[in-house]
Amino acid sequence: MFSAEDIREDFPVLEHVVYLDNAATALSPRSVVEVQADAEFHYRANVGRGVHRLGRMATHKFEEARDVLLKFFGGESGILAFTRNTTEGMNILARGISWNPKDRVIIPLQEHHSNILPWFSLEAEGKIAGVDVIGGTDGHIRVEDIEDAITDDTRMVAVGHASNVFGTIAPVKEIAKLCRRNDILFTIDGAQSAPHLPVNLKDIGCDYFCFSGHKMMGPMGVGGLWVKDGSPMPNPAYAGGGMVGKVSGHSFTTAGGAAQFEAGTPDVIGAVGLAEAARYLTRLGMEDVAAHSCALAHRMIDGLSEIDGVSVTTPADDELVGAVSFTVDGVHPHEVAYFLDEAAAIMVRSGEHCCQPLMQKIAPAGGGTVRASVYCYNTEDDVDLLVATVEEIANMVM
Ligand code: PMP
Repeated sequence: MFSAEDIREDFPVLEHVVYLDNAATALSPRSVVEVQADAEFHYRANVGRGVHRLGRMATHKFEEARDVLLKFFGGESGILAFTRNTTEGMNILARGISWNPKDRVIIPLQEHHSNILPWFSLEAEGKIAGVDVIGGTDGHIRVEDIEDAITDDTRMVAVGHASNVFGTIAPVKEIAKLCRRNDILFTIDGAQSAPHLPVNLKDIGCDYFCFSGHKMMGPMGVGGLWVKDGSPMPNPAYAGGGMVGKVSGHSFTTAGGAAQFEAGTPDVIGAVGLAEAARYLTRLGMEDVAAHSCALAHRMIDGLSEIDGVSVTTPADDELVGAVSFTVDGVHPHEVAYFLDEAAAIMVRSGEHCCQPLMQKIAPAGGGTVRASVYCYNTEDDVDLLVATVEEIANMVM
């Protein structure tokens, strides 16, 4: 098992702050920054186009990065396209599929806007008949709820692998089985699982998986879309250089594989940095990363639950990805976050966490929740300082 203390020097800002906003964006270790600087200085060139040596080198490194990420997500099956982030991946999918106007999509209520609004947009444009929103507000996605909502017209189920509000984990393997039995497509929003859990996409059995590099120690502005079947999708979200098969007259065919999703010059340097992030995490061991995040989440839940006036929103599940939401009676979540920074240089997120449909139910007065989220460089001391400082805040209003 790695030691959080030992890796902290890879993240220089930790000398100055207690960083507990990892579910929003994680920190990049030195090696991720260094490989990007090396790429900038030594082989910055466009990929898949020119034949000169820098172009060949950049193309080699870009394709190598793709292989590293495919391996990180469980092996050689499927194709992996670089995107800007999870949100872009979800939109590329929603736009790319050839919908029948009677199709329906099922999503849980607790989803992030990135896995709600692309489907609502299709509904508003009449491209699909509707979006069926299932599930409650306890952080748990139940296979039975999805099964009950399935009709002959259900074409897609789209689920967040891990919740950015609760830190809970969805039973994606069982959902995949259910979808396969009913011949329904299954999309996973992997924004919060990719950083914390060992993810084997072939084993899970989904059709699509989107993730963001910046949440798994990679650079900001690069992420990925994994697709089980790489044949060309009917409606490319973006058309232009790089994604084309053949242009004839005013029409064109789309390339198969990852290229169809990578119109225009990709973020080559970002992809190289993201691959180094995946290597870094692999060196730590994803099983151990998962165990570390989960143990710290439980320490947070235990400590915060003891404080009068604090309500912990995250359920104490056996497995959690390290994000814990809570509120302090009589104090606005933004005030809590502000005080944590001012008093102890603790960075947390406050607000609706891009989950308005859920927040309208669990925090109807507005303001959302406070969310503290850990990663592999956080320690028990970080958690204990958070708990002690939240207690100070709660005592001030008692
Ligand atoms: N889904 C979930 C569950 C998330 O937590 C986030 C980021 N908060 C996103 C999607 C969107 O990620 P990005 O902003 O990187 O597209």
